[in-house]
Amino acid sequence: MDLKGKNCLITGGSRGIGKSIALQFAALGANIAITYSRSAEAAQEVVKEAETIGVKAKAFQADATDFNAADDVIQTVVKEWGSLDVLVNNAGITRDNLILRMTEEQWDDVINTNLKSIFNYSKAAAKPMMRNRGGSVINISSVVGISGNAGQCNYAASKAGIIGFTKSYAREFASRNIRANVVAPGYILTEMTGTLNESVLEQINSETPMGRAGNPEEIAATVAFLASDLSSYITGTVVRVDGGMAM
Ligand code: NDP
Repeated sequence: MDLKGKNCLITGGSRGIGKSIALQFAALGANIAITYSRSAEAAQEVVKEAETIGVKAKAFQADATDFNAADDVIQTVVKEWGSLDVLVNNAGITRDNLILRMTEEQWDDVINTNLKSIFNYSKAAAKPMMRNRGGSVINISSVVGISGNAGQCNYAASKAGIIGFTKSYAREFASRNIRANVVAPGYILTEMTGTLNESVLEQINSETPMGRAGNPEEIAATVAFLASDLSSYITGTVVRVDGGMAM
């Protein structure tokens, strides 16, 4: 597998799964641009690590919910590097609560960060990818968007929305050689899941046929395949990377 010379943008690339995707892409020869909202230092570490590998790297402080910022980031990448070949919409948050207690703010924050962001970046990427005669968009959903989860109505709605969005986008741009796919992780060890207590973790492991949590690198490997030319006939699909959790 090889991403040599591809210019790739990963939202939320400062930590967790996004960081793994960025570094995996860099290891495969891609230039990587990442966005973050608050973790400036962590983002600069990712840039440094990628540059050590020998590729171009850049970090943008850009709130994923900001429509104009998404356009600015993509315009800058295209202006400086000549094209955008791969977009990974990874930035995401949780604000869990049972629906009876869920606030309007918890609903809006999750929908805006997880779903509106996908619209912002995928729309801004479409024209440069059309000019480039192709591209690959990979959107990070979740098995929760497929199966639902009590306490996560906002998150599940945003992640299910990503699946519908991606299939529609894939249909709109298939004839332009722009592919769009979803990766739906199961339970992955990152800061997002770091706050879960032991009994919840044990329950998750017991509900996962492979009996363990996944690592960010295991998501990154699948995303890299969908970004690469090896997946040139795959569009509009949802790939679960979940140890069998949602089968
Ligand atoms: P982390 O919390 O570890 O990292 C989240 C990343 O998103 C950070 O880089 C963060 O940047 C960025 N981010 C958050 N909000 C914004 C925003 N408003 N604007 C720009 N960037 C933002 O999460 P994970 O790595 O665990 O999750 C990554 C994706 O994978 C998410 O979409 C999540 O829903 C999905 N996922 C995760 C699973 C898991 O088990 N971990 C399971 C299924 C799906 P900053 O550091 O600046 O805050």
